This record gives sequence, C-alpha cells and structure tokens, in this order.
Amino acid sequence: MNNYAARVFEDIKAKTPWEKEFLQSVFEVFESLGKMLERDRKYEKNCILERITIPERVIMFQVPWVDDKGNVQVNQGYRVQFNSAIGPYKGGLRFHPSVNLSILKFLGFEQIFKNSLTTLPLGGGKGGSNFDPKDKSDREVMAFCQSFMRELYSHIGPDTDVPAGDIGVGGREIGYLFGMYKKIVNAHQSVLTGKSLNWGGSLIRPEATGYGNVYFASEMLKTRGISFDGRKVLISGSGNVAQFTAQKVINEGGKVISLSDSSGTVIDKDGIDHEKLEFIMELKNVRRGRISKFADEYPSVTFFEGSKPWQLASADVALPSATQNELNLDDAKELVKNGCVCISEGANMPSTPEAVEFCHANDILFGPGKAANAGGVATSGLEMSQNAMRMGWLAEEVDAKLKGIMHNIHAVSRVAAEESGEPDNYVLGANVAGFKKVADAIIDLGV
Ligand code: NDP
Repeated sequence: MNNYAARVFEDIKAKTPWEKEFLQSVFEVFESLGKMLERDRKYEKNCILERITIPERVIMFQVPWVDDKGNVQVNQGYRVQFNSAIGPYKGGLRFHPSVNLSILKFLGFEQIFKNSLTTLPLGGGKGGSNFDPKDKSDREVMAFCQSFMRELYSHIGPDTDVPAGDIGVGGREIGYLFGMYKKIVNAHQSVLTGKSLNWGGSLIRPEATGYGNVYFASEMLKTRGISFDGRKVLISGSGNVAQFTAQKVINEGGKVISLSDSSGTVIDKDGIDHEKLEFIMELKNVRRGRISKFADEYPSVTFFEGSKPWQLASADVALPSATQNELNLDDAKELVKNGCVCISEGANMPSTPEAVEFCHANDILFGPGKAANAGGVATSGLEMSQNAMRMGWLAEEVDAKLKGIMHNIHAVSRVAAEESGEPDNYVLGANVAGFKKVADAIIDLGV
C-alpha cells in the first residue's frame, strides 16, 4: 500500500478498531489506489483519503413502536450520509438484527464508488436498523416503519438523500416508509426508490440488481469466449437479488443448482426452472417461509441445514447474493477445485479478502460487488429520472439502459485495470475508476 494510504488507514484503525467491516472495505479500496496516488500528489495535498473515509454526517436515532401484544419495543435507527460530491446521498436501508454502525459505514463507503461507476449523479449513503422484520406481523412492520420515518424524514429529500431497499427492506417496507413520509411533508416526492409501480416505481427496478449482476458476469465470461448457456450456477440467498439473478441465469440458458437463506441451502440436482422459481418467489415473498420448504415440495431437491452452497456441488459460476463475508478462502478453493471459473458478487462484500486474493492468484474471473451489483442503484437512478419527468419508461427501455450501464461499468473497470497492468483485476479497476471521479469532484468543490 502507498505510504499516504497506509498512514490514513492506520489512523482510522487506531480510532475505530472495532469497525471491522468498515476497515475491511477501506483497506481493499486503499490497496488499489497506490499507483494513482503516487502519480498524482493532488489527492494527498487535498487530504482526499481522510475526507472520503469520514462520513459527511451520521444520524442515529431511537425507533420506539408498539408490538401486537401492546408492549413497547425500541430499536436503533441510522442514516450514514457518506459523500455528496457528485449528487444527493443514495443507498439502501437495511433492517436486520446484525446492523451496526460499522456495517452501515462499510456499505455507505462502497456505495460512493459504486454510484460513481454508474455514471449517474448519485452520492453515497446507507442506513437501517437492528429491527428484524422476520416473524413480525404486517401491522408490526408498519408500526416500526412509520416510527422510523417520523425521525428520518427531516434528514432526507429528493435533492438531499434518497434511500432505497436492502436486506429486510422490500416493497412492503418501502410502501409503509413512503406512506408516512408523504403524510408528514404533504407532498408526493421522489424521496425513496424501489416504489411500487402504481405510486411512482420503475419497471425492472425489482429485477435490476440480479439482472445487472448476470449482465456483468456475462461481460467477464465473454473475455474468455464463454457464456451462461449450459453452465451450472451456484447462487446464495433467496431474497430480491438471488431471485432475479436466478431468473436471468435461467433465461440465459444456465442451470441454477442452489439457493439459500440464513437457515441453510437447497441443492436441486435437476436445476431450478421457471416453475420452481415461481414456487420459491411465492414462498419467500408472500408466505415469508423458509427455503427448506422448497425441498419438501420437490424430490430432486435436498436441504442442507446450516450450510452455504459453495462446497455442496460443482459449478462453473458462483453468484453470492446473500450477505457480507459469506464466501471464504476454503469455499473459494473448493469452488475452483470443482471447476468454477467465475465469481461475481450480487451481495455487498460477500467474499473475504483471502478468497478474493485466491481468485486473482488462480486466474478466476472475479466481479466485485461495487461493480457487479451496481445495476440496482443505477435503476434507482432511472426511477428518480422518471419521477422528475413525471413519466414512465417501458420495461424494454429500462432493461436496455440497465444493460448499457453494466456494459459500461465492465468496460471502464477493465480499462482502469489494464492501465494498472492487471487487465483481469476488476477489483483494482472498479476502485480506481470509481474513486477518481468522486475525488476530483471533492477537489473541484473546494474545502
Ligand atoms: P433480501 O432481504 O431480499 O434477501 C437477503 C437474503 O440473504 C435472504 O435469503 C436472507 O435469508 C439471506 N441472508 C441475510 N443475512 C444472512 C446471513 N447473515 N447469513 C445467511 N443468509 C443471510 O436482501 P437483498 O436480496 O436485497 O440483498 C442481498 C444482498 O445484496 C445484500 O448484501 C445487499 O446489500 C446486496 N444488494 C442489494 C441490492 C438491492 O437492490 N436489493 C442492491 C445491491 C446490493 P433470511 O431470509 O433467512 O434472512
């Protein structure tokens, strides 16, 4: 790592040694910037690394609500407004018991570079709560979301900060959050994305992150002269990203072997087809059931309790789409031993640094989340554009724009990697390309 980057990293580590996920994401970005920082001293002179690693603002608040038994509950709420140099803060809300400031700072930090890569004018932010929507009634989820928004509304706005969904925040939650915002400010504004179609949403937004990752992985595979057609694919997770990743892989002629949730993994030796995926979508999105129920329904499916997919079956491509640090060095070794040639991250930072290093050392195509899963936020940007114009584009139009954006992210990441002398290193390429635009904007805007 370059001396300036190492000094700033040590300083952050000394101040917040407990923020492990945040340190992990900062380390990965700083490691990529060495040559750039040596070449151009303006970034050090303007303290860009110091300024890009401290959020412009962090809002922390209590979220009291009443459960179905009439008891008062209280959760912690957050919004990390990380960087607004190139546009309003943009990034999802995560509702999960594991949520803390380190996780939201890592996600917000990643979001700065991801949003920059989309070429859209979007700054970086992230937020959420340690609230767990699982096993809660609709009324309890509504009560929580309304209380969350009662506090958050004064810090966000269409030109200030536009949150979206993430783990635990889907269409239902966005609806309750938007409903409360609208009541308070008395305006139907584009203050959230991931909205339903009949009150301001965009076609293809639900599909965008998963579809985008398949488009990005296809571009990587193309550099080796292959495609998804006839390939076996392991996918983790069974939420929004995993479902539409599976749908696009099937459309492209691939064979989806696995899906998972926090209770375990299902392996389907015959492959998950559209009919089976429809069952899974109804199970997860309507009945809000566990993935093990899929195995109860189909004889070709086996459920492995407590396991992740990576060591359970062979595959050509792995698309981790659940959560951070879910694919470690042993998993990467086993995948490669079994013939895997490409890992592309639908989730944010699902691969550990050791797993990423192993992929690079073994010539495995590796698509980092900030590039590969940027299709979600890019289509959120398209939702904001449609809202501003008070019109909606056709699904084909949005999908074509999404495909174009993913093609472009792949191209700029590859060019930046090539210029750094490592053409297949998309981590390096995405970090350099994403950083430069934001860093230059910070300098342009003055101190
Ligand atoms: P969902 O809440 O819809 O689904 C999350 C899935 O991951 C569920 O199957 C969940 O299982 C599983 N999961 C969550 N936490 C864990 C855990 N600790 N261990 C094992 N499994 C877990 O979220 P999304 O699909 O929206 O998000 C998935 C990933 O994609 C996240 O990393 C998110 O940041 C990233 N992402 C999402 C975008 C989007 O547009 N939604 C955009 C870009 C990135 P269970 O139900 O049992 O908890």
